[in-house]
Amino acid sequence: MIIAVLSRNPKLYSTRRLVEAGQERGHEVRVIDPMLCYMTIATQRPTIHYKGEELVGIDAIIPRIGASVTFFGTAVVRQFEMMEVYSINESVAISRSRDKLRSLQLLARKGIGLPVTGFANSTKFTKDLISLAGGAPLVIKLLEGTQGIGVVLAETSKAAESVIEAFRGLKENILVQEFIKEADGADIRCLVIGDKVVAAMKRQGKEGEFRSNLHRGGSATIVKLTPEERSTAVRAARIMGLNVAGVDLLRANHGAVVMEVNSSPGLEGIETATEKNVAGQIIQFIETQAKPGKTKTRGKG
Ligand code: ADP
Repeated sequence: MIIAVLSRNPKLYSTRRLVEAGQERGHEVRVIDPMLCYMTIATQRPTIHYKGEELVGIDAIIPRIGASVTFFGTAVVRQFEMMEVYSINESVAISRSRDKLRSLQLLARKGIGLPVTGFANSTKFTKDLISLAGGAPLVIKLLEGTQGIGVVLAETSKAAESVIEAFRGLKENILVQEFIKEADGADIRCLVIGDKVVAAMKRQGKEGEFRSNLHRGGSATIVKLTPEERSTAVRAARIMGLNVAGVDLLRANHGAVVMEVNSSPGLEGIETATEKNVAGQIIQFIETQAKPGKTKTRGKG
């Protein structure tokens, strides 16, 4: 098959590993920067062009669309879908997962355990919002934040109020969340492919840090999941419509709660911590779903 990895940077670990794993399994793999693609939207024959060349003959794509380029990136994925090219994660699912509120609402509707979460547009009722989320300590998050930036722990209701007002004063959208203290600065990343968790790691924040992000100095170790945690992760990915997802769980007293579902999970941390060939499993999944010249993706809106 000819597989394209949509990625801005061929040197990134995840991109390199997907190329390597595809080649190992006998495929031709290309890295295409989605931001350099241009397209014609036509009823009869939609096309995608890249650096002066019309892209033809691609059987499957692996979108690795960064949060900052979601708008154009998902348009490129959608164009491939219009051309009946199989996308391991569909454009609608990627867009859905990028909207944190929408994602939490969808997961809640399907009965997935979540931290109690509140959000508001106005700061007029901040005190009430804080008490609805269970009162301090509370986690306040920027909706657009990544890598733990814009995630604040407010120990008191007064602090929570000030932080919320400051963020809203900057016109930032935020959510207010119950602090899962018993998670003890750790979260669990489950790498889901299809209906399986193929690898899982526990990320532990450095001493004194409640955020476990590896970018913030956290460390990762292999972890054994309970059957409930496995099924929660798989269900969360399915509800989002993602075939490949990084599902982040917090271990709360009443069981695991889902914090986030990521549509372009990084492979470096998880492959290193678990010594598993996750990239290879992504390629194998494509082999079962996409056939050369034939696809199951049908270019939905
Ligand atoms: P980002 O998407 O920017 O990484 P997250 O929402 O994943 O932000 O939060 C960053 C880290 O903060 C998480 O990995 C987790 O360790 C910690 N964290 C986030 N929300 C909570 C919460 N409600 N209770 C306890 N810890 C949390």
